[in-house]
Amino acid sequence: MPKSDPLPLVVAGGGAAGFMAAITAAEAGVEVVEIWEATAEPLAKVRISGGGRCNVTHACWDPRELVAHYPRGQRPLRGPFSRFAAGDAVAWFAERGVELLEEDDGRMFPVSNSSASVVQALRAAAQRAGVRLQSQRALQEVIPSPDGFCLKARGLPEPINCRRLLLATGGHPSGRRIAAALGHQVVPPVPSLFTLRLDAPWLTALAGLSQAPVDLELQVGPERFRQREGIVLMTHWGLSGPGLLRLTAFAARALQQHQYKAELRINWCGGLNVEQLRLQLAAARQELARRQLANGRPELLLPLRRRLWLALLEQAGLDGNRTWAELPRRGEQRLAELLLRSQLSVSGRGPFGEEFVTAGGVDLGELNLATMESSCVPGLHFAGELLDVDGVTGGFNFQHCWSSGWIAGGAIASALACKS
Ligand SMILES: Cc1cc2nc3c(=O)[nH]c(=O)nc-3n(C[C@H](O)[C@H](O)[C@H](O)COP(=O)(O)OP(=O)(O)OC[C@H]3O[C@@H](n4cnc5c(N)ncnc54)[C@H](O)[C@@H]3O)c2cc1C
Repeated sequence: MPKSDPLPLVVAGGGAAGFMAAITAAEAGVEVVEIWEATAEPLAKVRISGGGRCNVTHACWDPRELVAHYPRGQRPLRGPFSRFAAGDAVAWFAERGVELLEEDDGRMFPVSNSSASVVQALRAAAQRAGVRLQSQRALQEVIPSPDGFCLKARGLPEPINCRRLLLATGGHPSGRRIAAALGHQVVPPVPSLFTLRLDAPWLTALAGLSQAPVDLELQVGPERFRQREGIVLMTHWGLSGPGLLRLTAFAARALQQHQYKAELRINWCGGLNVEQLRLQLAAARQELARRQLANGRPELLLPLRRRLWLALLEQAGLDGNRTWAELPRRGEQRLAELLLRSQLSVSGRGPFGEEFVTAGGVDLGELNLATMESSCVPGLHFAGELLDVDGVTGGFNFQHCWSSGWIAGGAIASALACKS
């Protein structure tokens, strides 16, 4: 066993959550805080995030609304978000020199439009607070001791003792393995936020086209998932876009259980129902009687992109050169069915979107979410993606890292102050 004095706090994992926790603890007065980072490059995911721009958080100020964006962790996160949510993250970064700007869809990016400014701010804040960064030090084994933990790491000749340990190892398997070895339940990881492969050549031929608002309904085995009025993007393999990614995030576990086979129903006129569409088509017969189907559309169908409209006409077996007055009744029925309920077979998972996160991880039921401390192992804390929490695309995953890291860092500082 090591003979030197135990370190007050070791943070395993130099990502968003680990940095936030280490900075918060050090700023609150914990004398020695070490971040152990397995690789040579801490904050690597922050750097690549948001296509190099880093979507830091989302302009969603009410914690009760914020939790709705987390397929896993929704209810339990109410407590943590009531203490540190998106507004707090915006203020925290502003205090450290990073102003965030809101985009039309609510996503928030640094004014610099570069993730480098977020990385620099986190590194500078850690340095100012005296946090020691130990790169290329991968935590391998944790042995609880009467006054803390004995830690073994790759790249460390001797084990090191610490009083408090924070695991913030993200989606890497090593953190889950260590947590399980310490007696924690780990919900098996599955990927989240992916696109879908569809057996629909007519749709994939429209690759590059986006459409909104679109209602989606995914039938996976006996389970049904819905997404209202989202944006979808046609790709050469199937569908992507924020609306689709949100749908797959909520359906991630069910899809994995069914080998990514499912049925997708699309209402291309999001929010429009059968009766409203029937009235629209009836009105079009009158008002657009002499216009060709390809060139005239009733008002509520105008949001449909022209290429999609033409493809739907073709799918319904209708000649776009015919006029609305010539539209056969059965053809109208086929068109209405396609507009409101295009039925497509999902043949597999497509590539990931801009973000990739793991659903699953350390079970929240075994944590005190006011301190992020383990209920099984006193002195052990968790933060970030290692937990069984994941958000949809839009800055929500980082928000959870900032919130859980901030809470854990503060709680650790309080606990260590009480003991000293
Ligand atoms: C391409 C991409 C883009 C993304 N863009 C966004 C975005 O714009 N907005 C958003 O909200 N989310 C985004 N995400 C998701 C977001 O990056 C993650 O949710 C977030 O990085 C998780 O942070 P973390 O600190 O929990 O884990 P990580 O960022 O994964 O950090 C964990 C760290 O721990 C280290 N580590 C692992 N095991 C050990 C060990 N045993 N010992 C020591 N160190 C260890 C790892 O090397 C890593 O540096 C994106 C993800 C990807 C992949």
